[in-house]
Amino acid sequence: MKNVLIAKHPATGATIDQWLETDIQQVPEMYEKASSAFKFWSSRSLETRLSFITKMKQYLLDHMDEIVEEICSATGKVKTEALTADLMPVIDILQHYEKRAPKILKRKRVSTPLLFVGKSSYVDYFPLGTVLIISPWNYPFQLSMTPVISALIAGNSVILKPSEVTPTIGLLIEKIAREINLPKNLLQVAHGGKELGQELVSATPDSIFFTGSVETGRKIGIEASKRFIPYTLELGGKDPMIVFEDAPLKRAVHGAIWGSFTNAGQVCMSVERVYVQSSVHGEFIDRLVEETKKLKMGEDVGSLTFHQQKDIIKDHVLDAIDKGALLLTGQHPDNWGDSMYIEPMILTNITEDMKVVREETFGPVMPVIAFTTEEEAIQKANNTEFGLNASVWTKDNGKANRVTSKLVTGNAVINDVLVSVANPHLPFGGVKSSGTGRYHGDEGLYTFCRQMSVMKDPGIKQKEINWYPYQNKYKKVRTLIQAYFSNNKQKAELLRSFYKQLLKK
Ligand code: NAD
Repeated sequence: MKNVLIAKHPATGATIDQWLETDIQQVPEMYEKASSAFKFWSSRSLETRLSFITKMKQYLLDHMDEIVEEICSATGKVKTEALTADLMPVIDILQHYEKRAPKILKRKRVSTPLLFVGKSSYVDYFPLGTVLIISPWNYPFQLSMTPVISALIAGNSVILKPSEVTPTIGLLIEKIAREINLPKNLLQVAHGGKELGQELVSATPDSIFFTGSVETGRKIGIEASKRFIPYTLELGGKDPMIVFEDAPLKRAVHGAIWGSFTNAGQVCMSVERVYVQSSVHGEFIDRLVEETKKLKMGEDVGSLTFHQQKDIIKDHVLDAIDKGALLLTGQHPDNWGDSMYIEPMILTNITEDMKVVREETFGPVMPVIAFTTEEEAIQKANNTEFGLNASVWTKDNGKANRVTSKLVTGNAVINDVLVSVANPHLPFGGVKSSGTGRYHGDEGLYTFCRQMSVMKDPGIKQKEINWYPYQNKYKKVRTLIQAYFSNNKQKAELLRSFYKQLLKK
């Protein structure tokens, strides 16, 4: 029996919408429909597929306020953040691929070594089939739409399972697909939670793109590996920010505050650890506290989105305070009450054993830690299971490059925070427990493609030298290998004479 899903505003508790959950029994039928839609869609030209991308972009531009309102009611975000960080990146990626997809997906010719004279070589890109996309609640629009758009452009059909925490965003995406007349069943939205997600994973996807927690990502990776289904995992982070004494300090203070507290800290790439060189640590903290106190709740900082996340944040802050951390801004968790608006918290006197240093907090919490040497900063920054993003702050270009290159992370930013994810030309993804695979950039389309490497012979010669019979071939092939791979100056001459001999035969 189908359950009724009720969507509520996270902060006010007001009911936003209600509708029926996708029944688990419907999953096989969804894949059948997706498979038929794939056959149709993959046989359309890229030009036709991109015409829907153009329509989608225009629809988003025409309905910005409405979409922003929907995102805010589902998440409790402030409007500016819904606009700049959830909607705008989608418009940007649509425009990016609208222009660049023909170049990315066209046949890529590569050179053919002299050894294979007469042949040509190239790579072709084909869609995979039906892509299952599972998304989280923190940027529910962007983190659903970007992989959906990329998969569709590459010629796939899509089943999207958005987060049950922000379920109205699934309805919004269905509406957009309807409004732009996207072919039937090309993009199906499965409404429901974890069990539905599990069922979709264990059914018949041709590829899985998952964004969410490490714990769920691991389960999905294991399940997909059993059947060799290609998968991409975009998971959590514990991103460090390293501030050297020669950093542009005022800018670093503002950067740390925005990087830690934007979206109430519910960002996979939030600045979750700030390492500041001892000589400027005191001044940095004073400025941080002064500037953080100026933030306005509800205008600069939105509400939390997910009630269970509040418990995790509370647990991390209490653990830190118990172990000796000092809370310089915000409220002690005992005073939070029922509100989902949590004032930004700066913590000092931090030790490495605290949860705020080791585990993803995903809330408005900034632990600030002093360091002395460059090596110490690098060691501390790398000392977690995560590797999503990191930032290095210094006016010394050499130091910036040196330190950044030693950080084990999928993305990095110098004298800024988070921003690399917003450049659609740059591939995005994590290392270590932060995930595997990439999207955005050219790789963002290749992730949804089956690549085929082809070598083509004109078919004129009767046979190749490495074919049967092998009789009397060993020495000739040996000479060829020596000539071809040695750095000897006579190489070219040897090779030429060898080919002459061969061509005579
Ligand atoms: P989550 O793992 O709890 O849920 C994500 C999605 O997976 C939801 O749609 C959920 O219904 C589904 N799901 C849960 N269990 C499942 C299962 N066993 N099989 C199939 N689907 C299942 O994550 P969340 O709490 O929604 O999101 C927060 C996490 O996402 C944080 O860790 C954050 O860092 C991470 N995140 C990562 C990125 C990135 O790009 N790397 C971006 C945003 C969020």
